[in-house]
Amino acid sequence: MKLTPDVCIVGGGSAGLVVAAGAAQLGLDVVLIERALMGGDCLNFGCVPSKALIAAARAAEAQRSGAAFGIAPVEPRVDFGRVMDHVAETVAAIAPNDSVERFEKLGVRVLKEEARFIGRNELQAMSAGDGIVHSEFNASETDGSHSLQIWIDPLAEDLTPSYQQIGFTDDERRGQLRLLAGPQGSGGPGVATINQHAWVYVTEVIPAEPVTHTLAPSRHAWVQVVRGEVTVNGHQLGQGDGAAISDERQVTLAAQRLEGAELLLFDLA
Ligand SMILES: Cc1cc2nc3c(=O)[nH]c(=O)nc-3n(C[C@H](O)[C@H](O)[C@H](O)COP(=O)(O)OP(=O)(O)OC[C@H]3O[C@@H](n4cnc5c(N)ncnc54)[C@H](O)[C@@H]3O)c2cc1C
Repeated sequence: MKLTPDVCIVGGGSAGLVVAAGAAQLGLDVVLIERALMGGDCLNFGCVPSKALIAAARAAEAQRSGAAFGIAPVEPRVDFGRVMDHVAETVAAIAPNDSVERFEKLGVRVLKEEARFIGRNELQAMSAGDGIVHSEFNASETDGSHSLQIWIDPLAEDLTPSYQQIGFTDDERRGQLRLLAGPQGSGGPGVATINQHAWVYVTEVIPAEPVTHTLAPSRHAWVQVVRGEVTVNGHQLGQGDGAAISDERQVTLAAQRLEGAELLLFDLA
């Protein structure tokens, strides 16, 4: 799905809804992304429920404090379950104003999804499992974007969909392999878990400092050049090239040019 709206709003709380309604009324193409409940905190947990609760408290207090008006005070019998039903009914009465249906009628395209930003030196791992919807777009109209999307067949089907996002620094990958993803238990914080016996590394190879990876017997590798030029076990590869490696115990990555090269290395079954 390719989206190119005039305005993309993350969050259907009070702020997002006001901006979405205003922008749509100005005739702009608006996308609103909400991962949980339309109306955000105000409708569901904050302003509205708290005011409904306060109204119930006032009604109880009025029973206690009628003496000044000549009304015999009584201690109210509070049915807390019913009080909370009233809170829920109040939220439900207002909810249509903040609903997906209302905003779609206003011309806003509403996506019930998690919105995420991904930048340089970040990896997003998604397990599609029994079904996910995903789309990406470059949020900048002036700067280019270069992202790699890689699909790895999982060991099992119908897993629960999941999302993970990790970041790494230039230092962590310069002159060495930085593990980005691996099977359960293969890495600590900062390593995404994938449902396959596969390990994914990133590296920036600098001249005169080759990077070597040892493959266990009967393991294979795939090298993907993200940027620059590199030799892989002596074979020259350029930007965008990939190489499948089998029947080798070692993979040696070397850069000749001063600007070095960025690569992904997959250790595969
Ligand atoms: C008890 C209580 C009482 C309050 N009473 C009042 C009051 O009487 N009057 C008043 O003016 N204010 C009140 N507030 C404050 C009010 O609730 C907040 O100011 C208001 O909700 C802020 O709105 P918002 O849109 O900025 O954020 P939120 O309401 O927090 O909405 C943010 C929305 O963004 C969504 N979101 C976040 N990240 C993502 C993502 N990555 N992808 C997709 N969706 C995402 C969330 O699910 C959420 O729905 C109260 C707050 C509380 C807790």
